[in-house]
Amino acid sequence: MQKQEKHQGFKPQENLVSILPSIIAGIFILSASIATVLIYFPPLNPIYKIAIILYWILGCLYLAFYYFFFTTSLNKSRFTWINSIILGIALGGISFLIPMEIDHLLYTLLIIAAMSTSIISTRGPSYFLVFSAATIHFITRLQDQVSNPQWMTHIGLVIASFMAIETIQQLKKVAREQINRLEIINELSKQIVSTLNTNQVFSLLNAAFQNALEADAYYIGIADEEDIHLELFYDDGEFYENIKVKRKGTLANWVITNQQELFLPDLRQNVELDDVEMVVIGKQKTSLSWMGVPMRGVHVDGVMSISSYRPNAFHRSDMELLSTIAQRAALALDNTYQHALVEQQARLDSLTHVYNHGYFIKALGEQAEICLAQNQTLSLIMLDIDHFKQYNDTFGHLTGDEILVSLCDIIRSHIKNTDAVGRWGGEEFVVSLPNTTGPQAMQVAERICATMASLKVRNTSHITIPVPTMSMGIAMFPSETDKIIKLIDIADKRLYTAKKRGRNQIEPATAFWDETKEIN
Ligand code: GH3
Ligand code: MG
Ligand code: MG
Repeated sequence: MQKQEKHQGFKPQENLVSILPSIIAGIFILSASIATVLIYFPPLNPIYKIAIILYWILGCLYLAFYYFFFTTSLNKSRFTWINSIILGIALGGISFLIPMEIDHLLYTLLIIAAMSTSIISTRGPSYFLVFSAATIHFITRLQDQVSNPQWMTHIGLVIASFMAIETIQQLKKVAREQINRLEIINELSKQIVSTLNTNQVFSLLNAAFQNALEADAYYIGIADEEDIHLELFYDDGEFYENIKVKRKGTLANWVITNQQELFLPDLRQNVELDDVEMVVIGKQKTSLSWMGVPMRGVHVDGVMSISSYRPNAFHRSDMELLSTIAQRAALALDNTYQHALVEQQARLDSLTHVYNHGYFIKALGEQAEICLAQNQTLSLIMLDIDHFKQYNDTFGHLTGDEILVSLCDIIRSHIKNTDAVGRWGGEEFVVSLPNTTGPQAMQVAERICATMASLKVRNTSHITIPVPTMSMGIAMFPSETDKIIKLIDIADKRLYTAKKRGRNQIEPATAFWDETKEIN
């Protein structure tokens, strides 16, 4: 949908609706004033009479034009000044045509003009209109015998016009802010639900905070048992990353634990909340207003907070806005976490929870590329359990399953986070070790074998049974090949060699033996 051009933060339709009552009232009062003059103070001079009638017709036409003008695409900002000048002169000038006795009608007209001008423009043109009309009017009346109380009435009505302008400007400001906030929430909701990337959710939230709230500091904290991880933390113009604070004693913890919003307009006053002691994070400037709302979903438990160095910086409406953002954020984060979980599950083997065949090849490809760029060696271990079919036949398939799970736990316990392990098929596994030489891979393989051998296994009748042995083949990248499929093939062939040689052994690259000799 095409965005409608806005004037003063409002759509043409909204401006139209707001000024319609003023225009109708304006036409009515103008007609009443002129009619009163013609009926009760008929001018003796015919030219005067024609001038008054002309003024009436032109005035009504102008007011009607005012209404239709807002449906056009004319430059409305420039028009507001022209309008003020025309209205100022016209309202001031009418004092020449009408007698002092119906000045009150003139002032009613002035208040209506001030109101409608204030609706469609800023303070400048509105005050100018009242000021110019009142000045001309005062000058005109100076020659007449105007009593003091009448002057006071005039001054009072001018002040009333100013008040009308001011009130409308304030209301417009509040309405604009509200519209702005709703638009931000609307936009945020649209974007946030369509993203499945957690980081993007945080950057959308950041943009919403910047646009919608005037905070010196804000953060989004995701809680676990002990800590609160500040995923997005902004303080006095700076962003902080990877900040973790202990939950205990914090205002954020209070919000999360009690699942309640917390609005502290002035932190200089004693804050008496259970288990809360003030902790300063970020800049050492102290926040004097603080606001926090819980952010809870199925997979996410956290808090969203804004603060200011000024006391009483926020209103209840800010709290409502923050709460709405937090609800949307919890929903969006739930989505991204759920998506990540499904993606993670799709990568893993359901029994052993190591990478499945497909994902392992992908991970190996990425690791190999990095090693190649950094001129590092990557070692690949391929391992297969010996006589596993027989083992299953003897001790049962369930015990066999347990062996597979234990083997994978053991492999994981001997490798780094940056390494990868995958189930190649059945009882055959692959381990990729980036930045690891052949001898280092050999050590890892030996440790896996040794730990496996020391495993205590019981069958379903709780009787201790033997642990199966394993055969392994090791290949190195890129010294032996710079193609990962070939690397897997080499490791597989070596595994086959180890099987042929009698099983329960590791078959490394031929070059490895020379390296081992050098190390020894
Ligand atoms: P080898 O020493 O030559 O490797 O002999 P093997 O019996 O281990 O080899 P083979 O490939 O003939 O048999 C593999 C066996 O692994 C067959 C199957 O019973 C077992 N196996 C494969 N996947 C699973 C599994 O998920 N759970 C269990 N319990 N056994 C499995
Ligand atoms: Mg086997
Ligand atoms: Mg096999």
